[in-house]
Amino acid sequence: GTIVQVRRDDVAVPADASDKHEERRLLNAALDRADLHLRALADSLAEQTDAGHAGIVAAHAEFLSDPELLDLATSAIDAGRSAPFAWRAAYEAYADRLAGLPNPVLASRAADVRDAGLRVLRELTGHRMGRQDLPLGAILVAEDLTPSDAASLDRTRVAGFATTKGGSSSHVAMLARSLDIPAIAGIDPRVLDLPEGTPAILDGFRGVVRIDPSPDERVRVTERRRRLAERRERELAEAFEPALTTDGRRVGVVANIGSPQDARDATAHGADGVGLLRSEFLFFGRPTAPGEDEQAALYAEVARTLDPGQPLVIRTLDVGGDKRLPYLPMPREENPSLGERGIRVGLARPEILRTQVRAILRAASAGAWLRMMFPMIATLRDFRRARELVEAERRSLGVPRVPIGIMVEVPSVALLADRFAEEADFFSIGTNDLTQYTLAMDRGHPKLAPQVDGLDPAVLRLIADAVRAAHERDRWVGICGGLGADPQAVPVLVGLGVDELSVTVPTVPAVKSQVRELSFGQCQELAQRALRCDAAEGVRRLIPAKEM
Ligand code: PEP
Ligand code: MG
Repeated sequence: GTIVQVRRDDVAVPADASDKHEERRLLNAALDRADLHLRALADSLAEQTDAGHAGIVAAHAEFLSDPELLDLATSAIDAGRSAPFAWRAAYEAYADRLAGLPNPVLASRAADVRDAGLRVLRELTGHRMGRQDLPLGAILVAEDLTPSDAASLDRTRVAGFATTKGGSSSHVAMLARSLDIPAIAGIDPRVLDLPEGTPAILDGFRGVVRIDPSPDERVRVTERRRRLAERRERELAEAFEPALTTDGRRVGVVANIGSPQDARDATAHGADGVGLLRSEFLFFGRPTAPGEDEQAALYAEVARTLDPGQPLVIRTLDVGGDKRLPYLPMPREENPSLGERGIRVGLARPEILRTQVRAILRAASAGAWLRMMFPMIATLRDFRRARELVEAERRSLGVPRVPIGIMVEVPSVALLADRFAEEADFFSIGTNDLTQYTLAMDRGHPKLAPQVDGLDPAVLRLIADAVRAAHERDRWVGICGGLGADPQAVPVLVGLGVDELSVTVPTVPAVKSQVRELSFGQCQELAQRALRCDAAEGVRRLIPAKEM
């Protein structure tokens, strides 16, 4: 590919203006357009990817109505500044203040504020970004790319992203992964000085950008790309067969989805069903929550997309933490991931949960094998309250029971797994949160990111306990966190006895094909060794990563 520099060029703006009413009107119109654009982008992201990126973009839209930010901008306009000048000064001051906060999560929002702010500025000046003139195979290098930059690029021309800031679990890196674009963060800042058009290779496997590759290297890369494409084709051709290990153990490979479109894609990729419908994605990017009928229709549409016997696990609304809904205002919390999120929101506002539960129960007759699951369960008390709410709605609707399971994403649940297994019909292990809560490391923290590894033996022991407890009661256990698609984790998880891996749609064929190469017996031995390691690195050394 070739290097393309993405610079956040300063837009030239006039400093002063004479008609403050006109400037205010211009600013409001630009804010409205940016808001519309962001919401449309959130919708299209929700359709393209399975994960939370739509929510991040929706959160950008939220910044645009922050009273403090608007106040800063309008006071500057009232003092005689032009709308673009006032707006830029306002969002930059606001972002600087956030960046200076000791709380890294808040500080990382500064980049989001700048992203949203720049979008409005471009609306004001008619200066759109979106480089539509990208050469084929462009390797975009930038200090930082925002999720909305990444999402608005022409994907067919981009060979990869390389940024000098950010980590592998930054939002843009996650977005790149689910769009299937290689991305490397934290590269040497000297790449920012390279002239446009410099030939380069982005080696996502080693995490490096090689400049001016030799003819030999180019041949190797082209070869590797060809092999990868061939392998993907092979994997897809076999994806519609079940995934059996060489010694005959079946592992369900199902998909994580966020929309009916994802469900269609999942089927086209050979998924054995849906292990996680993140229902919050149906709530993002819209002005109000979907009502009972609308939700029932959406769930039924997903159910009808699958085969009648295939599982469909619908998770009730998981908001709070880093996922916010504009029409569900929640008080700011010091520690949002330890606050009101997941089922806690549902129990605190039972009308929302009740509406959703009714919609799910009504959709249960539409086909597929529908099951309901609660997020962020930490105590038996919360689980029982949620289950009682379901039972009350079920009786009032006069419909049959559906299996009710829980996410295992808080260590307390894994530790009390034997008790939970008496009452829950199944477990689905959310390794993203389980890792964050076990290691007490924010899953989105830019500095801690490399250490937040679900293959940490502490996390693996909790998974092992949960699987054992579930199987003792003949309950089924799945994995629905990102670990389930990590090629180094798959043999360990299979060896720990999980029944199902629920993974992003594009990775379904590869995971199935990997399972077919494994022997369950060997995976069990490997898993026992992994449980005795003292760190994630040790576990990873047991399973060398395979390069193409
Ligand atoms: C998880 O925590 O692993 C999970 C699957 O849920 P989410 O990523 O939506 O929090
Ligand atoms: Mg979670």
